[in-house]
Amino acid sequence: MNLTPQFIIDACYFAAAFLFIYGLKRMSSPVTARSGIMVAGIGMLVAVLASFLYYFGVNDAALPHLGTNVVFAAVALFLGTAWAWWSGKRVAMTAMPQMVALYNGMGGGAAACIAAVELLRTNAVHQTIPLLLAVVGALIGAVSLSGSLIAWAKLDGRINGVWRIGGQQILNGIVFLATLGVGIYIVFVAHGHAAPGIVAAFFIGALIFGVMMTMPIGGADMPVVISLYNAFTGLAVGFEGYVLQNPALMIAGMVVGSAGTLLTLLMAKAMNRSVSNVIFSNFGDGGGEQQGEIKGSQKPAEAGDAAINMRYASKVIIAPGYGLAVAQAQHKLYEFVKLLTDAGVEVKFAIHPVAGRMPGHMNVLLAEAGVPYDMIYDLEDINGEFKEADVAVVIGANDTVNPAARTNKSSPIYGMPILNVDQAKQVYVIKRGQGKGYSGVENELFFADNCNLVYGDAQKVMVAMIQAVKSLEGGGH
Ligand code: NDP
Repeated sequence: MNLTPQFIIDACYFAAAFLFIYGLKRMSSPVTARSGIMVAGIGMLVAVLASFLYYFGVNDAALPHLGTNVVFAAVALFLGTAWAWWSGKRVAMTAMPQMVALYNGMGGGAAACIAAVELLRTNAVHQTIPLLLAVVGALIGAVSLSGSLIAWAKLDGRINGVWRIGGQQILNGIVFLATLGVGIYIVFVAHGHAAPGIVAAFFIGALIFGVMMTMPIGGADMPVVISLYNAFTGLAVGFEGYVLQNPALMIAGMVVGSAGTLLTLLMAKAMNRSVSNVIFSNFGDGGGEQQGEIKGSQKPAEAGDAAINMRYASKVIIAPGYGLAVAQAQHKLYEFVKLLTDAGVEVKFAIHPVAGRMPGHMNVLLAEAGVPYDMIYDLEDINGEFKEADVAVVIGANDTVNPAARTNKSSPIYGMPILNVDQAKQVYVIKRGQGKGYSGVENELFFADNCNLVYGDAQKVMVAMIQAVKSLEGGGH
């Protein structure tokens, strides 16, 4: 066996590909997900380090630039690693979706930059297929960059509401077709040697299209959009990997592209929408006026009374949501649940696929608190059980338990599957006040006859509930 630099590079890329796929496999269960991320990260490190070997006997043309290129690459690596480390350490769990959107956008931007370098290289000899893929990758990557930045700004509360103008879709169509036209010119007329101004116009068009496509999408649809851009970034990276003939980029791009596409389809299915419906319709903008009047009143309950009621129930189902993450109440919640199970109550957790602010948000929180996986149920597995439950506890959830999605055709969230908490004999909703959910829609559950509201921060309410049950046990019951 001849250990040439090329052989070592190929072997490293093979190992990296294996590590990406094995890491992804481990991410499919909360038990192994953490190690899956480490494995995939090591794969990426192997691929990055192997790329430096290109300078040693593989690509002689690059040798004259060895010093400058290695310095540039090392500085970029250092800055990127330092920033990612710093921001990753200090990000709050509730701000994770914004961070994912931002990093995802940068992946798309990096793919677009590779294409830009190719298209601006005056001495390049372009073949049609790689050129076509470079331009398609550039288009998708640039749309993903600007679209993800808008998604980040929306999730981070820097842009509020939806911005929609008359004839939006026609305008979007014109911008898209114009950008596509410039792309076709670059490939088939200029054969990759278009003037820099034309290349710039192409990128500006793609970036504007990403902004225009994302601005009108509102509220509850953001998870699907972020996941869609994730798939876009993967595709763009895969295409640019082909252009550079770099197997590690191709494989990483394909893995991200296909995983992102699957996630997008699953999320859209979870919300009972098609992906095109998410992008082209006006869902989730909190249209209060279409909601109609809600009858009834909100009935408050004391945390202690609710806790004691649960202590004497036989079956309790808990529906956690975004407020659980805000309050970081998962540990106290599980402490309370253990008191109930010790007293012989059957307790289950019901997880809505878009509860919280990122896919798997609730699973991560509950895993962090040590909740056993066999207590945690997906929506389709638990929804039939609510009608047998004595108590359903909604803790910091809102949109994901709003019965209007099931019954009220004029509601902006009509059609999204929800957890059937309203079918339990008694419902307790733990929330701080009159705050609405992410979609901005009022929740008729809170006004139902069988529903009481336990007002307060979820963590404080859980502390009070624990005390109530403990004092009961201490009191000799
Ligand atoms: P919602 O966002 O619908 O509601 C959260 C509720 O929690 C609010 O009504 C709020 O009421 C309450 N709350 C906030 N802070 C606290 C606290 N400290 N203690 C107690 N309660 C609190 O949550 P859901 O999880 O039900 O729904 C998720 C929504 O987010 C869906 O619309 C989904 O589409 C969207 N989304 C999901 C993403 C994902 O990938 N999972 C990503 C982006 C958006 P109050 O202010 O009165 O306390």
